[in-house]
Amino acid sequence: MIIPIRCFSCGKVIADLYEKYVQLISTPQPGTDGDLMPDGEAMDKLGLNRYCCRRMVLTHVDLIEKLLRYNPAEREIVKIGQRG
Ligand SMILES: [Zn+2]
Repeated sequence: MIIPIRCFSCGKVIADLYEKYVQLISTPQPGTDGDLMPDGEAMDKLGLNRYCCRRMVLTHVDLIEKLLRYNPAEREIVKIGQRG
């Protein structure tokens, strides 16, 4: 959902690196034919060397934007509408 601030295993601060990581793997590398940077190379560049920290960034699924569209009050409105 939201990238955790610290690595669960070692405690290294990783949240600030996630945005840079996404930018590195999604923008074409200069001097190539639009090739994207491999995930491993991007993590090396950001100083994510331990595999515990690498799994945090690599396996993160950013769902916060989808979740923000959910309105819990909407269910109540539908329920009231069904009653009468
Ligand atoms: Zn770690």
